[in-house]
Amino acid sequence: MINYSDFRSDTVTRPTEKMRKAMAEAVVGDDVLGDDPTVQKLEELAAETMGKEAALFCPSGTMANSIAVKMWTNILEEVIVEERSHIYNMESTHMTFISGVTPRPVRSERGAMDPKDVIANIRKPNVHTPRTSLICLENTHNNWGGSVVPLDNFKAIRKIADDNGLRVHLDGARIFNASQASGVPVKEYASHVDSLMFCLSKGLSAPAGSMLVANRERIEFGRRLRKALGGGMRQVGVLAAPGIIALTEMVDRLKDDHVRAKKLAREISVLPGIKIDPATVETDILIFGFEHPTITVSAMLEKMKEKGILALAVLGGIRMVTHKDVGDEDVDRAVKVFREILGRS
Ligand SMILES: *Cc1c(COP(=O)(O)O)cnc(C)c1O
Repeated sequence: MINYSDFRSDTVTRPTEKMRKAMAEAVVGDDVLGDDPTVQKLEELAAETMGKEAALFCPSGTMANSIAVKMWTNILEEVIVEERSHIYNMESTHMTFISGVTPRPVRSERGAMDPKDVIANIRKPNVHTPRTSLICLENTHNNWGGSVVPLDNFKAIRKIADDNGLRVHLDGARIFNASQASGVPVKEYASHVDSLMFCLSKGLSAPAGSMLVANRERIEFGRRLRKALGGGMRQVGVLAAPGIIALTEMVDRLKDDHVRAKKLAREISVLPGIKIDPATVETDILIFGFEHPTITVSAMLEKMKEKGILALAVLGGIRMVTHKDVGDEDVDRAVKVFREILGRS
């Protein structure tokens, strides 16, 4: 059996030994009845970490985003989203399916929407048109290759929202990556939005779970929505326990992932067929164009897999992500495999 270096996503991270132990020893109760002390501890920790009143432990980021959209919107309303955002492209239409609202995509510069474009897309209701009620941001921005959306953009969008009576939700699946890369505290990003979601299950290495954070009143409504969506879980302290370790012990090491992603980008950027400017790699995600005279993207991925390197296809290219379970030796191995397949240029 080949021992793969798995660069497909930071979701492939396995829980640490300490997480496994915490899972085994977690004090649990029925969380739907409000009895699980470990979940309560995680929710308090998440709220405090983000400087918000309350938090809700959700089975996935998609459910947390779904609840966020539902809790800030009503029928006949519209949501401004960035055109490449996860919430718009990768979450199976929950805005229409669950909330009955339409997304309105807006172009951006590496995930940062121009405030002028946002203003131009706010709609006042009349007999023909929906009312805009929510703006969704994403940081880091997954489909822009893990780009960090600047804090100034948050401030500008906040002002627009306040001027127009709108709410702002942040898909902060990788907000800790953004913070580690920019030096901006997560609380600072959070202070400019009404709610945010972040994932415990990605680079932070917990086996499952995402947190939705907002004011207490909305989170209590969100708790009812979570139950209605089938996300009420019982003795789920066994999953909250590794989540607490994810938040308290796994954040600082994300920096190492960023260093490795940059190194990988630098080394392979010079090879034939690979189109990436290493300067655009800010965090753990590399998305590069791949145009080779004889090798297609799928053939390239197959050749890489034969040599033990896993990556994913994206439109016109390849996506690789660094994380806890790929170290320096995996990066070196990947670079070697790329050189073997593509030559040294
Ligand atoms: C992974 C991800 C989500 C959703 O998380 P799941 O737990 O996979 O449902 C949302 N937004 C972004 C940007 C993500 O990368």
